[in-house]
Amino acid sequence: MTSLTPVDGRGARAVVVKVGSSTVTTASGQVDVDVVGRLSGEVAKLTADGHRVVVVTSGAIACGWAALGRTGGRPSDPAVLQAVSAVGQQRLMRAWQDGLGAEGLLAGQVLLAPLDFGHRRQYLHARSTLQHLFGLGVVPVVNENDAVADEEIRFGDNDRLAALVAHLVRADLLILLTDTPGLLSADPRLGDGGSLIEEVIEIDQHLMELAGGPGSVGSGGMASKLAAARMASRSGVTTVIADGRRPGVLAAALEGVPGLGTVCRPSAERMPARKLWIAYALGSSGLLVVDDGARSALVEHGRSLLAAGVVECRGRFEPNDAVEVAGTDGVVFAKGLVRYSSERAPEWVGRRSEALPEDLSAVAMHRDDLVVLR
Ligand code: GLU
Repeated sequence: MTSLTPVDGRGARAVVVKVGSSTVTTASGQVDVDVVGRLSGEVAKLTADGHRVVVVTSGAIACGWAALGRTGGRPSDPAVLQAVSAVGQQRLMRAWQDGLGAEGLLAGQVLLAPLDFGHRRQYLHARSTLQHLFGLGVVPVVNENDAVADEEIRFGDNDRLAALVAHLVRADLLILLTDTPGLLSADPRLGDGGSLIEEVIEIDQHLMELAGGPGSVGSGGMASKLAAARMASRSGVTTVIADGRRPGVLAAALEGVPGLGTVCRPSAERMPARKLWIAYALGSSGLLVVDDGARSALVEHGRSLLAAGVVECRGRFEPNDAVEVAGTDGVVFAKGLVRYSSERAPEWVGRRSEALPEDLSAVAMHRDDLVVLR
């Protein structure tokens, strides 16, 4: 086993640790102060070695629901969940402040929404805040700004948010803590144990299917963890999915202890945050089928998509919604923010610029708003 790199400026690493609702809360929905205390101790060890650690924690909804005296399943209405989070967030934060405080550390609360990563200025502000917190020796403790944004409530239990934060701080490592040993070759909830998949080079469709649906307490589950790992991979960040109950899990993940969990390797190139957000954080509202000429303009020459190249439009969308792009073979190869509404499709599908109404630009999807997916 290699030891943690001692820190004197060299070898210091940026690490994002994501703790899910099922790890950080008890069965009755209270914040599990033992878990928070233990993880705080582990964070303290890493920071003492000079590593920069960001904690991304869920649990606001789970403990807000318990604080309201409710037991049993959580409500499904996102608006109610948003309100519940407002009750739980400060309880969650108090637990982290107490846990980190016992280690002589200060916690700094940063509430973000995936949307923040699509706006350059917001992105830069968030990055600057995190950098300054590091500079002040404070541990940033991040959650989604659930009270006003519900994307992670609906889709991810902070998994994608953690991947976006990993991009933001140019992390070396994203640690997704969960209540299983990692990605298993079969779903444990179906009664078949399955064996641990220790290394993933590429997260493909087969793996996503293996990961199955959402988990129980939060809205995450293994599929959302793999989706986050894929985002991290395209940010050049390694992800470790490991059991948050295992003592010493953070140091072991940093040391690369074999068998600790599932390690997902990074891809060679680093996608800009805005494109990462478009490709993976935004839900898609429709599909544009394009001709071969448009396809090659996008894939081979990195150009914008023109209305003239669109042969068919499916779904319902407004300008600036995320929409997928497929070839005439039906295979999706790109995704981007569309400039038109689906309602006006007859006015723009397949039209050359001179045949478009005056208020519509010839560009259906600008190349800055478009990601070619592999
Ligand atoms: N940000 C949410 C929380 O802290 C995520 C949990 C969820 O989606 O269930 O509770």
